[in-house]
Amino acid sequence: MTTPAAAADPPADSLVPTHCDRCRRTATVDHVTLEQNIGALVLRFPKRYRGYLCRECSAHVFWRFTLITLFFGWWGVISFFVTFGVLYRNLATYVRTRALPPPRTSA
Ligand SMILES: [Zn+2]
Repeated sequence: MTTPAAAADPPADSLVPTHCDRCRRTATVDHVTLEQNIGALVLRFPKRYRGYLCRECSAHVFWRFTLITLFFGWWGVISFFVTFGVLYRNLATYVRTRALPPPRTSA
Protein backbone atom coordinates (compact mmCIF):
# COMPACT_ATOMS: atom_id res chain seq x y z
CA MET A 1 0.00 0.00 0.00
CA THR A 2 1.35 3.40 -0.94
CA THR A 3 1.14 6.49 1.19
CA PRO A 4 -0.56 9.29 -0.78
CA ALA A 5 0.76 11.98 1.58
CA ALA A 6 4.36 11.07 0.80
CA ALA A 7 3.71 11.22 -2.94
CA ALA A 8 2.11 14.68 -2.64
CA ASP A 9 5.01 16.20 -0.71
CA PRO A 10 7.19 18.39 -2.90
CA PRO A 11 10.90 17.65 -2.95
CA ALA A 12 12.90 19.54 -0.34
CA ASP A 13 14.69 21.67 -2.92
CA SER A 14 11.53 22.76 -4.77
CA LEU A 15 11.63 26.20 -3.14
CA VAL A 16 15.06 27.02 -4.57
CA PRO A 17 14.67 29.14 -7.73
CA THR A 18 15.81 27.34 -10.86
CA HIS A 19 15.46 30.22 -13.31
CA CYS A 20 17.77 33.17 -13.65
CA ASP A 21 16.09 36.51 -12.91
CA ARG A 22 17.90 38.22 -15.77
CA CYS A 23 18.01 35.76 -18.70
CA ARG A 24 15.08 33.53 -17.57
CA ARG A 25 16.98 30.37 -18.56
CA THR A 26 16.84 27.21 -16.49
CA ALA A 27 19.99 27.25 -14.44
CA THR A 28 21.52 26.72 -11.06
CA VAL A 29 21.28 30.17 -9.53
CA ASP A 30 22.63 31.93 -6.49
CA HIS A 31 21.27 34.94 -4.66
CA VAL A 32 23.71 37.71 -5.44
CA THR A 33 24.09 41.31 -4.35
CA LEU A 34 26.29 43.44 -6.56
CA GLU A 35 26.98 47.11 -5.94
CA GLN A 36 28.13 50.11 -7.91
CA ASN A 37 29.35 53.44 -6.58
CA ILE A 38 29.94 56.70 -8.43
CA GLY A 39 31.60 59.46 -6.46
CA ALA A 40 31.09 63.16 -7.25
CA LEU A 41 33.11 65.15 -4.69
CA VAL A 42 30.51 65.51 -1.93
CA LEU A 43 27.79 63.35 -3.51
CA ARG A 44 27.53 59.61 -4.05
CA PHE A 45 25.43 57.70 -6.55
CA PRO A 46 25.18 54.14 -5.23
CA LYS A 47 23.33 51.39 -7.10
CA ARG A 48 22.59 47.84 -6.03
CA TYR A 49 21.43 44.73 -7.88
CA ARG A 50 19.87 41.89 -5.89
CA GLY A 51 18.49 38.74 -7.39
CA TYR A 52 18.87 35.11 -8.29
CA LEU A 53 21.38 35.00 -11.12
CA CYS A 54 23.05 32.28 -13.12
CA ARG A 55 26.80 32.15 -13.52
CA GLU A 56 26.87 34.09 -16.81
CA CYS A 57 24.49 36.86 -15.74
CA SER A 58 26.30 37.27 -12.45
CA ALA A 59 29.55 37.77 -14.35
CA HIS A 60 27.87 40.24 -16.74
CA VAL A 61 26.47 42.41 -13.92
CA PHE A 62 29.72 42.05 -11.97
CA TRP A 63 31.86 43.43 -14.80
CA ARG A 64 29.49 46.30 -15.59
CA PHE A 65 29.13 47.44 -11.96
CA THR A 66 32.76 46.83 -11.01
CA LEU A 67 34.32 48.60 -14.01
CA ILE A 68 32.08 51.66 -13.50
CA THR A 69 33.03 51.68 -9.80
CA LEU A 70 36.71 51.20 -10.63
CA PHE A 71 36.76 54.29 -12.89
CA PHE A 72 34.18 56.57 -11.24
CA GLY A 73 33.97 55.36 -7.64
CA TRP A 74 36.96 57.16 -6.15
CA TRP A 75 35.99 60.78 -6.86
CA GLY A 76 34.60 61.82 -3.51
CA VAL A 77 35.63 62.11 0.12
CA ILE A 78 33.38 59.30 1.40
CA SER A 79 33.26 57.52 -1.94
CA PHE A 80 37.01 56.98 -1.88
CA PHE A 81 36.65 54.70 1.15
CA VAL A 82 33.30 53.19 0.16
CA THR A 83 34.77 52.06 -3.15
CA PHE A 84 37.20 49.70 -1.40
CA GLY A 85 34.29 47.89 0.27
CA VAL A 86 32.20 47.78 -2.90
CA LEU A 87 35.05 46.29 -4.94
CA TYR A 88 35.83 43.72 -2.24
CA ARG A 89 32.20 42.56 -1.89
CA ASN A 90 31.69 42.42 -5.66
CA LEU A 91 34.85 40.37 -6.08
CA ALA A 92 33.80 37.95 -3.32
CA THR A 93 30.40 37.49 -5.02
CA TYR A 94 32.06 36.95 -8.40
CA VAL A 95 34.40 34.28 -7.03
CA ARG A 96 31.48 32.53 -5.30
CA THR A 97 29.30 32.44 -8.43
CA ARG A 98 32.15 31.08 -10.58
CA ALA A 99 31.49 27.75 -8.84
CA LEU A 100 27.97 27.55 -10.35
CA PRO A 101 27.52 25.30 -13.38
CA PRO A 102 26.79 27.11 -16.68
CA PRO A 103 23.07 27.48 -17.61
CA ARG A 104 21.46 25.03 -20.02
CA THR A 105 21.38 26.31 -23.57
CA SER A 106 18.04 24.69 -24.53
CA ALA A 107 14.89 25.80 -22.75
ZN1 LIG B 1 21.12 34.29 -16.41
